[in-house]
Amino acid sequence: MELRIEGFTYGDLYDPGRLAELDGHFRKRLAENDPELAKRFEAYRAGAELGPVEESELLIAVARHLSRFLAWMFGIEDEAAALRDKIRSYDPIWKFKKEFPGKRAKRVRDEELEGFDADAFDRVVSELAAWRAERPGAPEDEEARFAAAVLELLEGGEQERARLGAELQERLRGLWPLPEDGAEVVEHLLVAVARWCRVRAAEPGPVAGWGAFKVPKPVDYGHLVDYERTRPDFPEFMEGPRDRRRRRDGFKLTDRRYSEKQVLSEVDYCVLCHNRNKDSCTKGVRDKSGQIATNPLGIKLAGCPLDEKISEMHTLHGEGDPIGALALIAIDNPMVAGTGHRICNDCMKACIYQKYDPVNIPQIETRVLVDVLGLRWGMEIYSLLTRWNPLNRRRPVPLPYNGKNVLVVGLGPAGYTLAHYLLGEGFGVVAIDGLKIEPLEPELARDENGNFKPVERFFDYYQELDERPLMGFGGVAEYGITVRWDKNFLKVIRLLLDRRRHFRSYGGVRFGGTITIDDAWALGFDHIAIATGAGKPTIVPMKNNLVRGIRKASDFLMALQLTGAQKKGSMANLQVRLPAIVIGGGLTAIDTTTEVMAYYPMQVEKTLERYEKLVAERGEQAVRAAYPPDELEILDEFLEHGRAVRAERERAAAAGEEPDFAKLVHSWGGATMVYRKSMLDSPAYRLNHEEIIKAFEEGIWYAEKLAPVEALRGKDGALDGVV
Ligand code: SF4
Repeated sequence: MELRIEGFTYGDLYDPGRLAELDGHFRKRLAENDPELAKRFEAYRAGAELGPVEESELLIAVARHLSRFLAWMFGIEDEAAALRDKIRSYDPIWKFKKEFPGKRAKRVRDEELEGFDADAFDRVVSELAAWRAERPGAPEDEEARFAAAVLELLEGGEQERARLGAELQERLRGLWPLPEDGAEVVEHLLVAVARWCRVRAAEPGPVAGWGAFKVPKPVDYGHLVDYERTRPDFPEFMEGPRDRRRRRDGFKLTDRRYSEKQVLSEVDYCVLCHNRNKDSCTKGVRDKSGQIATNPLGIKLAGCPLDEKISEMHTLHGEGDPIGALALIAIDNPMVAGTGHRICNDCMKACIYQKYDPVNIPQIETRVLVDVLGLRWGMEIYSLLTRWNPLNRRRPVPLPYNGKNVLVVGLGPAGYTLAHYLLGEGFGVVAIDGLKIEPLEPELARDENGNFKPVERFFDYYQELDERPLMGFGGVAEYGITVRWDKNFLKVIRLLLDRRRHFRSYGGVRFGGTITIDDAWALGFDHIAIATGAGKPTIVPMKNNLVRGIRKASDFLMALQLTGAQKKGSMANLQVRLPAIVIGGGLTAIDTTTEVMAYYPMQVEKTLERYEKLVAERGEQAVRAAYPPDELEILDEFLEHGRAVRAERERAAAAGEEPDFAKLVHSWGGATMVYRKSMLDSPAYRLNHEEIIKAFEEGIWYAEKLAPVEALRGKDGALDGVV
């Protein structure tokens, strides 16, 4: 990798002294390009106090320059420009949305729709998009093409409209009746588009999913989750709407996040409140007395706990500048790879839209990062922004090593974030984790001399979650979170830290066992930081709560991942039988219920495959003779279910669809989450109701207001029921 700044090498980007020089280069360049902005920025860096609006505007303005500087420095201006063009290619949709569905369609009277054939006009819509596609600079997206075509008609002057009208008269002949006079065609079409929008806003038909018709729904805090009570004999029983089920097969990433277009729709929805110092997503919602307000569920609306500059980030992403947006994020949230979609939502809860769907900030945040990582040297750009960020006046470059060393215990989100900040303050950091940490791929790891190569294309190292080896780095983010979150982000965080000169991490080292406090002092550490989390498991007060067949939910999730049971090829011994109930009302219970549903079909399918192999090798009698009678019973149950799973897989393949394993799991008793109070009182509902929605989509069952008091033992001593 060649950096464009003379005399600078890749290795210099890890040297605090050289980073300070880089900072100087950037500021000099800023002064050359925009002297007035540079003057204000220098004053800011020197400590000048600014009002919040002024500070936001200054940082946004400088971030635009920083983004261009980084693209130039890494030699990726063309790629950055192509990404900007791609993002901006959706702009016509948002403009069209405001003018047509947002205004003109609302003015269409009912009587004007009499005789209006929206189905026939759908063909005109497609043709207008095709017409725009033939012209230079056409967007790739069909909706954007149509919107661009309509805006061209709308914005053309009189002469231009007459010319376009004549052209379209020819083009649309036979599709839609148009006036004879070419000069009237455009106005006629614009009126028809407004009418069509009015119809399609209510009945989307072929344009279902178009961004122009997406409208926020009112929020009903008593009904954040749609569910059905489908069992009259069991009034506490609930399940998600059956028409919203999502089929799941194994342990691939279950949520591929929003597309760029969907994310931009959220950006368009955001009203960029930093302009008025009303960005409650960052600063929290305040009541009349100036205190942090609570929502009707009693949740404090404090906004992002890191004070991330969200509205500012949205501004730049909407401009097609994810690098600038990431620089703004990294001021307050340098470890952004470990936050965002499916991780945190405090920002969303405090969005200014309290009565309607909030802006989906975590989706936007994660997209910004993914867009940058997708660029050539994108990983290096992000990594650099965590060490050098001129927008961060508190610590634009790390302090040089101060000779003091800190032992950080635990490499979960708290440990790795703490390590980052300690490195920034000049400390040496050794981080340990009780669980094993696997080495990185050789191309990403340090060589025997401690050197490492820059990462050109991060996504070359992307791994599907069901194939990815558990790396062990990330603590709860590795072992506690299910495949709803993309754990490839852990590799990103690891690369940020592992390459720092004064950082080392070691797995399989238990604090208090492998190493004690006295050992740490003897080894020369100056400080010990415990970042191991609370960790105390919840024990359900239920008689016989440790009989065979019962497992702690967190232990199940951990075993599922740690033993590799969730991988097709693994021989892990983690046994689940149905029906299963999961006791609890928080995210651990939700995750456990979804994972039981996903694991069971895999477990029985693997059992069947291995059984068949063994029988082919040793004969059925010999294989069966190895099992005691109670285990044979379980084996036969698994084999029967395994055959059903296999049949369903074959049926689905023949039909060209995903297999419906949830249906089978239901037929064998299902997986039910049981909570002692109402679902509305549960922590999952109050804090993360989106997770209940997603779990319902996977087919979990929910039983509220039930508190199990005793686990019943069967004849073999194992669980045989719950009362
Ligand atoms: S996310 Fe919500 S609160 Fe934040 S700037 Fe946008 S609209 Fe305002």
